[in-house]
Amino acid sequence: MQRTIWRKIGAAFVTIAGAVTVHAATVLTQAEFGKMPDGAAIRIYTLTNKNKLQARITNYAGVVVSLNAPGRDGKMADVVLGFDTLPEYLANPTQYFGAIIGRYGNRIGAARFTLNGVEYKVPKNNGENSLHGGDDGFFKRVWKPRVLPDGGLELSYLSQDGEEGYPGNLSVTVTYRLTDADELKIDYAATTDKDTVVNLTNHSYFNLKGAGSGDILGHNLMLNAERFTPVDKGLIPTGELLGVAGTPFDFRRLTAIGARIEQNDEQLKIGAGYDHNWVLNKSGNALTLAARVEEPSSGRTLEVYTTEPGIQFYTGNFLDGSVKGKGGKVYGHRSAFCLETQHFPDSPNHPAFPSTVLKPGQRYQSTTVYRFGTGGAPNIKK
Ligand code: BGC
Repeated sequence: MQRTIWRKIGAAFVTIAGAVTVHAATVLTQAEFGKMPDGAAIRIYTLTNKNKLQARITNYAGVVVSLNAPGRDGKMADVVLGFDTLPEYLANPTQYFGAIIGRYGNRIGAARFTLNGVEYKVPKNNGENSLHGGDDGFFKRVWKPRVLPDGGLELSYLSQDGEEGYPGNLSVTVTYRLTDADELKIDYAATTDKDTVVNLTNHSYFNLKGAGSGDILGHNLMLNAERFTPVDKGLIPTGELLGVAGTPFDFRRLTAIGARIEQNDEQLKIGAGYDHNWVLNKSGNALTLAARVEEPSSGRTLEVYTTEPGIQFYTGNFLDGSVKGKGGKVYGHRSAFCLETQHFPDSPNHPAFPSTVLKPGQRYQSTTVYRFGTGGAPNIKK
């Protein structure tokens, strides 16, 4: 897959007056998105491919602000939750709408971990635990943008030694590309000058009917996973890898998200719905299919491919209608789902989990592809 994309992209990019990068198909434009309280100017980049699939991304937290995708009738809908303006993102950081999450995505139990015999304390911002990199994680940072000659958007950020309690200066780049195969491809890379832990992801909330169009319980989901990591009451993995067979966590075949979400199941109760990490069927770090979602009424589909070993499937259980998003639409309970590709939560405290340690001289590299389509099967009428 990768090779085809590169060949296509490599073919014909022309830069016009610095502001617009044109591929035979993909167009990138940019504009001002607003100013930070300290006056820093924030930009927004619009990437549009030959099929009119369009992603708008800002260098504030690397947020995917909107993603317009066609349905089977050709009608476009914005399928990610978010806000129209920068001040709204600044005022509502802890939904993490569309943002880059780091230095450590997901939870670290008891907000501490030990590395090379040294204990590091990270911010407690989720009960006793640390969530999504702390109070001032990557989801609140201004990233340095660069439009690449191939039409991609590169965002970079230097996370200082000790920032949010993590050791080492971590130099991070996140690159977004929109391909003619209707994919938003995100490449993450990082290097460090001291041993540290890294787990990067994107926190987009999807509703394939369109953001603010009701709940996502009728979407059908497939997760390419035989096992998941059950959690304690603080959503920290117990360390066990539990088979999904015979549980409401079995999404090996396309199943409605809402089909079993209210079942009397201890794990579902802890998460107030799905808020768990699935162990993807794979060995090594090849780019493989992690999830497929189909929305019956519009026909929109989303496939997620990743090099990561896990995926957090979260059903927006903590959305409660108190936040108004783009166009004044209300984002109610379970009105979106997240598919956060990742290493397993709390890995620094679970030596048996795939390691999240990054050492000087090594390069952290991770890729996730969101592929959009229109071939979703309609619901069979009874
Ligand atoms: C977590 C949820 C959390 C949510 C916040 C998800 O990644 O798993 O527990 O509430 O982020 O938006």
